[in-house]
Amino acid sequence: MTHTLLTKLGLDKHPRIITDVRGDETPEKDNIILSMNPATGKPIAGVKLDGKDDYERITANAVEAFKSFRKVPAPKRGELVRRIGNAYREVLEELGSLETLEMGKIKAEGIGEVQETIDIADFAVGQSRQLYGKTMPSERPEHAMKEQWLPMGPVGIITAFNFPNAVWGWNAMLAAVCGDTCVWKPSLMAPLTCIATNEIAQRVASEMGYENIFQYVIGTDDIVGEPMIRDRRYPLISATGSCRMGRHVGSVVAGRLGKSLLELGGNNAVIIAEDANLDLALKSTVFGSVGTAGQRCTTSRRLIIHESIADDFCAKLVKAYETVTIGDPLADGVLMGPLINEQSVVAFEHAVKTAQEQGGTLITGGEREVKTGELAGGHFVKPTIIRAPKSNDLPMAHEETFAPILYVFTYKTLEEAIDMQNSVDQGLSSAIFTGSSNSAQRFLDPSGAGSDCGLAYVNLGTSGAEIGGAFGGEKDTGGGRESGSDAWKAYMRRQTCTIGFSDTLTLAQGIKFE
Ligand code: NAD
Repeated sequence: MTHTLLTKLGLDKHPRIITDVRGDETPEKDNIILSMNPATGKPIAGVKLDGKDDYERITANAVEAFKSFRKVPAPKRGELVRRIGNAYREVLEELGSLETLEMGKIKAEGIGEVQETIDIADFAVGQSRQLYGKTMPSERPEHAMKEQWLPMGPVGIITAFNFPNAVWGWNAMLAAVCGDTCVWKPSLMAPLTCIATNEIAQRVASEMGYENIFQYVIGTDDIVGEPMIRDRRYPLISATGSCRMGRHVGSVVAGRLGKSLLELGGNNAVIIAEDANLDLALKSTVFGSVGTAGQRCTTSRRLIIHESIADDFCAKLVKAYETVTIGDPLADGVLMGPLINEQSVVAFEHAVKTAQEQGGTLITGGEREVKTGELAGGHFVKPTIIRAPKSNDLPMAHEETFAPILYVFTYKTLEEAIDMQNSVDQGLSSAIFTGSSNSAQRFLDPSGAGSDCGLAYVNLGTSGAEIGGAFGGEKDTGGGRESGSDAWKAYMRRQTCTIGFSDTLTLAQGIKFE
């Protein structure tokens, strides 16, 4: 299966990839990492790492390629992205399956993620004809003013393990229509998906005569990550990952007065009011908390439910959790795959234990899911629900544990629920289920008194964003916006142009200087 997949994606003879790794054999060389299958704990393939010289070469290529690529008319760059989207359509299933193999999300989600890259490519094609600047009236006679948006330079794209294809897609498809070149530094937990994804995009670019538009650099954080964030040749660093990583990357990039686009951790809550459609709320909560084994930045981690319906709803939730099939993410009918590695299982166990020590009550899950046979070495856990004590005081719930743990809180008034939802450091996604338009509107209060998150849903769960809107979050989530709406502006520099066509010198603010 693995070999067929790699062959179909043209990776079987790739110079960076070593396919004959077997069993628990680890290549002894320092400059090779293993891409592991989290469902079996076994290696899929080895990948040769880049060193400092490779980083230099790749960055120099990106700088050089930018000089000519910026001159390609934006709609032509859009044509490139259109062809890339089509190339992904041809391998949708294979690329999605590779993701599943390497990262452990179920196949439907792996394919869905590649679909997201195709969608953003389509979006970017249209955007390539709409890189609009404004014109504004000049205060001076016989003068004109306008602003224009210009290509910015090479963009350094740092991605997390859990969205190893689409996060690059959101960045790269827009950056390309904006005239920028891209250098991708993927997570070392998903290097094969990076190679497969990037090779397709660059192959299409090369067919159109554009070299080195999409490159990748695969290496450790100290050898390639740190140099990249410190490198002034990257005017923009777009980094997706944990708040810890973002705090560091943000301060290093700010220290050189570069721009950063930070997409960091979330701690997302679902509020369920007593007047909600509870069937809808139940299905959405299960998908939001269990989907991708709780390893989405938008995973529902906290449930804030009206006290009058909490017991009944929790009982139904437990029943629904018990029906979730956990297993090989490539197999039909499986709804939840493994966590990415053993450290994540340990972090899950630590969170469950700590939450209980803090007064939480475990109502389902809380332990490993033991498998036999092929999956015996997989990193499976049971989806877990922990009810907070009556005081609602549960410090563990303020942390993002990248695992399927849902903490349940109860509330009396909507105001209290919204305060609770806003009480964490992160501000990515939020949701309310209610049949009342007043409650919905209070959650979305235009004064800002409602949800403090970058994403706010009504009668929908916290995960599953569409690419048409700007994606990102506030507070410790980093403030960046990617994907739709006007997110393209992050990849360009703005220039205000004032053009005089008078023979008389007129100074602004009426200053006389004669
Ligand atoms: P991580 O922070 O461990 O790593 C993310 C990336 O940052 C990796 O490529 C890593 O190599 C790189 N990195 C780390 N230190 C670096 C340094 N000093 N210099 C350069 N690069 C460095 O995160 P992870 O475990 O891969 O992913 C999970 C986290 O990502 C979660 O917190 C999740 O919420 C977050 N995430 C956020 C979004 C979003 O859009 N907000 C999307 C996906 C994931």
